[in-house]
Amino acid sequence: MAKNLDGQKAGFGTVATHAGKEVNETHAHVQPIYQSSTYWFDSVESGQAIWKEERDGYIYGRLSNPNTDATAAAIAALEGKNLTQPPYGLMCGSGMAAISTVILPMVNAGDTIVSQQAIYGYSYNLFAYHLKEKGVRHVVFDGPNLADLERVLSETENVKVVYIETPVNPTMALTDIRGVVERAQAVGARVVIDNTFATPYLQRPLEMGVDVSIHSTTKYLSGHGQVVGGAIITPYEDVYRLFTTALFHYGGVAGPMDAWLTLLGLRTLHVRMERHCENAMVVAEFLESHPAVKRVYYPGLESFGQHELAQQQMDDFGAMLSFELQGGYAAGARLMNRVQLCELAVSLGTVDTLIQHPASMTHFRLSPEDRAMMGIGEGLVRLSVGIEDVQDIIADLEQGLTG
Ligand SMILES: *Cc1c(COP(=O)(O)O)cnc(C)c1O
Repeated sequence: MAKNLDGQKAGFGTVATHAGKEVNETHAHVQPIYQSSTYWFDSVESGQAIWKEERDGYIYGRLSNPNTDATAAAIAALEGKNLTQPPYGLMCGSGMAAISTVILPMVNAGDTIVSQQAIYGYSYNLFAYHLKEKGVRHVVFDGPNLADLERVLSETENVKVVYIETPVNPTMALTDIRGVVERAQAVGARVVIDNTFATPYLQRPLEMGVDVSIHSTTKYLSGHGQVVGGAIITPYEDVYRLFTTALFHYGGVAGPMDAWLTLLGLRTLHVRMERHCENAMVVAEFLESHPAVKRVYYPGLESFGQHELAQQQMDDFGAMLSFELQGGYAAGARLMNRVQLCELAVSLGTVDTLIQHPASMTHFRLSPEDRAMMGIGEGLVRLSVGIEDVQDIIADLEQGLTG
């Protein structure tokens, strides 16, 4: 944080612009990149004081680095904007490094992870296959349905973690964060959220009682598609220590350059998100009125089943949306091959608009039946709406859909 800036009092944009500033020897205005693997000690005694945490200082690049510290502190300041104290933050080398660094130390053989049915694919595979082989149980519930969570929690032993993601890819279905927290706390389980789609600009789960918030900083937080990274935020010191030690052992740390690039992106998070949300609303309305489109999934639309829940737990509706085309698979593939401004690419949260067709891309390995079960129609298209002039995004979609 800049000298004398009170992150709990200052506005979100001010914190985004200033958080994580450090005082460095050169008085460089922007933090230098500490591209160094190790740090020298003045003496055995001063080295000892750092090892014992009696004195601030750096030891070795896997343990900590000024750039990863600054970026983690900045993301934590935003996520804990309205908490009485800023939470703790850790940077990781990817979103999945953050997820595994959180989950692995929280569960042992015989324990259970309860998660939504629909979550990020690699997270699902980590729980359902990798951890299952090691004796950790994975039980799923239907995300939007709290009664189903109650049923699962009453039928399941040793639940250590309830893991959620909202809004979820690619249907934008929401999970009621406060409702999940209440039910998980009743059985003594920790709640972990993947907050990647919303970002702290739209949704601050720690304020709603969530224990750990995780981000793939690859997406909106870095914002320009320039880096792969992850972040872990928690208000609890013991939990933070657990993850810090896990990161020492698993080693999935972020590099200094990547952390620096992420902080640079974070400086404009509020400005980007404002335009992202504004554009997404206009694009969603355009699509909803288009004859080639059967249905639009965007939490900001009145027609969205959980629009009210979105208003309760989000400050705005984000810039991820999906839509089902009348023409099924062929229409989806045709649109992908016709767009000129929208980039045909997976990932999301970049300044430019990205488009993808789950049935032929991210979810092509699944059978049409399995896709249908996940709410993914053959003509479903996912859009990460960028910050271009919105009429240009619409013109591109229009020529792609009709023409
Ligand atoms: C991209 C993504 C991840 C994984 O992050 P990486 O940085 O690719 O490891 C996890 N969750 C969500 C919601 C994502 O979009």
